[in-house]
Amino acid sequence: MAYNILIVDDSSIIRAVVIKTLELTGVPVNKIFQAENGKVGLEVLHNNWIDLAFVDINMPVMGGVAMIEEMFKDDLLHTVPVVVVSTEGSKTRINELIEKGIKGYLRKPFQPEALRDIIDQSLGVQKDEE
Ligand SMILES: [Mg+2]
Repeated sequence: MAYNILIVDDSSIIRAVVIKTLELTGVPVNKIFQAENGKVGLEVLHNNWIDLAFVDINMPVMGGVAMIEEMFKDDLLHTVPVVVVSTEGSKTRINELIEKGIKGYLRKPFQPEALRDIIDQSLGVQKDEE
């Protein structure tokens, strides 16, 4: 199975780094979608099948917390696994999001191995199935 992955970050450089790192992990990717803020991210989610979403916290127009709250209110979108990728250091903020249901948190900058692990964990991939 190849995955459709959404990357929501206001920095095109960070989006490019996540895409490059995804390639390095060898995770099978069907299509990568990008969005520069939470509002655009929600539009992509409403219009496409997404298997996993990487979401930044600090973005203009709509930040990651608001976007994730909208997702969790939605009958369909609340099932999409979300990994927060942020420099946000607030443990309280991250714990609140984990309680709400995000699958994981990756602190920027990150190593390919950390991304791979969090993808496996989020998608429920068994190591011995690979
Ligand atoms: Mg940002």
